Amino acid sequence: MTAKPNLSSGRSYLAIPGPSVMPDAVLRAMHRAAPNIYAGELPDMMPKLVQDLRRVAGTADNVAMYIGNGHATWEAALANVITPGDQVLVASTGRFAHGWAETARALGASVQMIEFGMHAPLDPDQIETALRADTDGRIKAVMAVHVDTSTSIKSNIKDLRGAIDAAGHPALLMVDCIASLGCDPFLMDDWGVDVMVAASQKGLMVPPGMGFVFFSDKAARHRAARVGVSPYWDWAPRAAPGEFYQYWCGTAPTHHLYGLRAALDMIHDEGLTQVWARHARLAEAVWAACESWQEGGALNLNVPNRAHRSAAVTALSMAPPMATRLRNWTERKLGLTLGIGLGMAPPDDPAWHGFFRLGHMGHVNGHMILGLIGGIEAGMTALAVPHGGKGTAAAATVIAGV
Ligand SMILES: *Cc1c(COP(=O)(O)O)cnc(C)c1O
Repeated sequence: MTAKPNLSSGRSYLAIPGPSVMPDAVLRAMHRAAPNIYAGELPDMMPKLVQDLRRVAGTADNVAMYIGNGHATWEAALANVITPGDQVLVASTGRFAHGWAETARALGASVQMIEFGMHAPLDPDQIETALRADTDGRIKAVMAVHVDTSTSIKSNIKDLRGAIDAAGHPALLMVDCIASLGCDPFLMDDWGVDVMVAASQKGLMVPPGMGFVFFSDKAARHRAARVGVSPYWDWAPRAAPGEFYQYWCGTAPTHHLYGLRAALDMIHDEGLTQVWARHARLAEAVWAACESWQEGGALNLNVPNRAHRSAAVTALSMAPPMATRLRNWTERKLGLTLGIGLGMAPPDDPAWHGFFRLGHMGHVNGHMILGLIGGIEAGMTALAVPHGGKGTAAAATVIAGV
């Protein structure tokens, strides 16, 4: 009797929305002895690194770096512009807006939340109305998430700026681009964003551990007018350090910097607009497959309108507990890990097992996405989920169009 083969040996594939797949070039760049942090290559490479990082964000203004994850940047950004008692207006399209709002609340802000549901982007008109109602200018910042990773909704940040301007309101525009930076097009200066936060482990393809707060000169003036900014979170010395250690208020994340250098080289060698176009096409392939499976009755895409979906992540649902069974199957049988659902149902609710997400951010290409789609289709076949059998072909047709 021949043994039933297990097909999980080989390179595993973590297809979750962060941490993303890391390029070998990034890993190789990090594999080295501890570098000197007082002189030489590492301090010398900083000006170009900062410049290349700002290019990814589309800003000529400032960036402060932190040893921390996305949550650290949420706090860092707020700590520089919000004083206890200030009001902030938060546009929610999923779990991550709530997380950032909770941080603001914990720092003493009074949070006005506008809910836009779990299936469609924020509506700038409602933001404009809320700002017009703030006749005594109490709202200090409008906070939004470009791509909410829990729902995979992408909002239009340029139109959000338009709404703030139309209301003639002085509030700062603060945007979470942790999922979208380096995946979905984002132009900080062109779109009039004052503060933008990002982290290393998603579109930037570096291990978790570095966070970035980009800020406009207008936001810098807000900071300058404030007293009592916590010295660790203060973005001013980090963005304009006199000494190398001031970039991080202490020891540098030495190996992450080498990894980030390699990742930025890859992004700019490919070209940022090409990086966006690659993500757009790969996402289209994912959607074509999922829409086909949806017709077959297997699952539902969380965001019905393609124009409202992110190119970095896709949130899906199936009849519970099928999503969990599918994730378990692809991981155990194929070495392919799919993302859990986030913020759609409490973890102790049986409904939780009906949600899952696909990460397609960063270092991904055509054959990986076809492997992801083919792996899911194989899983649905093995688990007898009716899906129509045409998802992989639909994705291949999109990929064939390059
Ligand atoms: C991942 C993510 C975060 C949180 O980042 P951590 O590094 O896990 O703290 C916040 N916002 C968005 C949109 C994200 O995708």
